[in-house]
Amino acid sequence: MKKENFDVVVAGGGSAGIAAAIGASRTGARVLLVERSQAFGGQAVNSWISAYCGFYSKGSAPQQVVYGIGDEVLQRLKAHGENIAPTINPSTHNASIRFRPVVLARVLDELMLDSRVDYRLATSLIAATRGQDGRLQSVLIQDDEETVEVSAKAFVDATGNANLVHLAGLPTNWGGEQGEVQQASLSCLIDGLPAREFSVDELSKAIRAGRENGIEGLDVDRGMIVKVPEDSYGFLTMPSIEPENFGGKNLTKNMMTLRTKAWHYVQALSTYHPDLGHAKLLATSPILGYREGRRLQGIKTITGEDAAACRKDPHTIGRAGWPFELHSANGMSFKQIKENDWYDIPAEALMSRDCANLYGAGRLVSTDHLAMASIRVMGTGFASGHGAGILAAQYAADGQTDIEKVQKILKEQNALL
Ligand SMILES: Cc1cc2nc3c(=O)[nH]c(=O)nc-3n(C[C@H](O)[C@H](O)[C@H](O)COP(=O)(O)OP(=O)(O)OC[C@H]3O[C@@H](n4cnc5c(N)ncnc54)[C@H](O)[C@@H]3O)c2cc1C
Repeated sequence: MKKENFDVVVAGGGSAGIAAAIGASRTGARVLLVERSQAFGGQAVNSWISAYCGFYSKGSAPQQVVYGIGDEVLQRLKAHGENIAPTINPSTHNASIRFRPVVLARVLDELMLDSRVDYRLATSLIAATRGQDGRLQSVLIQDDEETVEVSAKAFVDATGNANLVHLAGLPTNWGGEQGEVQQASLSCLIDGLPAREFSVDELSKAIRAGRENGIEGLDVDRGMIVKVPEDSYGFLTMPSIEPENFGGKNLTKNMMTLRTKAWHYVQALSTYHPDLGHAKLLATSPILGYREGRRLQGIKTITGEDAAACRKDPHTIGRAGWPFELHSANGMSFKQIKENDWYDIPAEALMSRDCANLYGAGRLVSTDHLAMASIRVMGTGFASGHGAGILAAQYAADGQTDIEKVQKILKEQNALL
């Protein structure tokens, strides 16, 4: 079998993986980024989740809390004509940055082309081997031509679902104490929308009217249409289901159910919302959007209490300022963290408890179920990804972790700690 060697391997090319790979490569490390879909951006591009949450804190004066690689992506979006000023949702009062997924895909292609990262799309990480000392030694990656054994000094799992941690045979956490898991949703592209934001209540009213009038499958009635306000198209994220696991069999059943539900939701909106008479379903996302995946078991675990109190940590690698966003069978609800504030993401929450050269970033950072509902958003994913990339690069260079050094490099790369 073909063999290759790198300093750092990053699995997953979503917000977290991109920030990890670019950040690590800028320290001089030789970095491989492996992404199994055919575009960078993770759910933002492949599942059309077209709002970056977590870049701004919430409150009377939203402040940008994530800079570094994430901010470079914003500046590149701006250079391509996107408005990167935060949009405030009329119901939730949360500040997010809206973009068109097609523009983001181009921006991320350009960012990768300008980088020193060795990146491979359409390539899956399929196995991992650990040595006697517990450290990860190598991974197997596979595309339609070949399988390659890649060894590295450090690894970052940015797969959203902790797939690398799982393949390495290490324990993970999933769901809450009662086994509750956030619902996964199918993003639906809808055209014929008026040029404005929609409140959660007005959408909910139409969905409930649809249900009362016999339209089937409208179980969740609180959710959003995410769009650039002035556009005539947007992405409905309401058709939802609780996943049983991450296997193909369950995914097949869920995708087939949700594709049918999508038609029913659009039928309800176009029939019962006074401004949506022209709404048409144009496409359903080719992939299911997971809100909750397996989580890393880190040296530290961020709890809901830490997040709600906006706890600061001397070992911070970045800031998180999004509230707890919960999606259950009843739909979407929020629990707030302190206004105009953020909590720190400690380096140890990205460091595997069981494997010295393995780091986690994005949705799978070591948290409890509640803190995951905040940390999982993509703006925050850029921050944790950047941190994990520098941690991995520094470990690859020095063979041990020096958090102060990592913080210094992050600041040099314009991250806000
Ligand atoms: C319906 C819905 C709406 C949401 N709305 C918002 C929102 O408005 N704003 C927001 O900021 N967040 C939102 N989120 C949350 C957010 O999209 C995710 O939590 C976020 O994408 C996590 O980022 P990530 O980089 O950790 O993972 P992802 O974006 O999921 O990226 C992980 C990448 O890893 C790749 N991968 C996985 N396994 C492998 C493997 N074995 N080999 C190679 N590659 C692999 C995947 O293909 C994927 O591209 C929403 C989520 C859902 C489901």
